[in-house]
Amino acid sequence: MSCGSVEVICGGMFSGKTEELLRRMRREQYARRRIQLFKHGFDQRYTEGHVESHSSLKLPSEEVTTAAELFAQVKTDTRVVGIDEVQFFDDEIVSVVNQLADRGIRVIVAGLDTDYKGVPFGPIPHLMAIAEDVTKIRAVCVLCGGPASRSHRLSREGDQVEVGAADVYEARCRSCDGLHVCNVYQSHFYETTH
Ligand code: ADP
Ligand code: MG
Ligand code: ZN
Repeated sequence: MSCGSVEVICGGMFSGKTEELLRRMRREQYARRRIQLFKHGFDQRYTEGHVESHSSLKLPSEEVTTAAELFAQVKTDTRVVGIDEVQFFDDEIVSVVNQLADRGIRVIVAGLDTDYKGVPFGPIPHLMAIAEDVTKIRAVCVLCGGPASRSHRLSREGDQVEVGAADVYEARCRSCDGLHVCNVYQSHFYETTH
């Protein structure tokens, strides 16, 4: 039996988490290992039945709404399990991911490390702790062009979850996240690069 493992890919919105997850999954397809890719049913932004990145890369996926449902859908001959938007799952996802890895499966999860307030998101801190490998990646700050660790919410609603892309969130660095510039067109970065 091959040795299982847990890999976490995390960062803010637009940092390339989904692209990196799809890149790792595609490599496993070239190796002809059976893969299964999951996403939370809550995330309806793009095509149903696919995980798709902001740059339009995509792979077929299965939608589930609980960790238990995901566990039940993993087939006996699956060698690699990918999970996108893992921050939306309940805490049970931590033991599900652990059990799958103990079974010899390579488990790769991608998700937001923090919410728009900079607070750790759902099960992510636990997943990072139990993982063999953690990759933190950053987007490009739309205001200054530096590395962006924050998902700045443009609307004022207070819920932790408000699904959306460029219309609702923009990538900002820690320092620009504190600025109250609400329109990308006002930014210095936009003016100097367009
Ligand atoms: P994530 O899953 O982390 O939200 P994706 O993998 O879906 O990110 O998309 C990453 C892609 O988003 C980049 O390759 C780039 O084409 C695009 N993108 C849009 N805005 C930005 C930004 N501010 N910084 C970096 N990439 C961006
Ligand atoms: Mg993504
Ligand atoms: Zn910045």
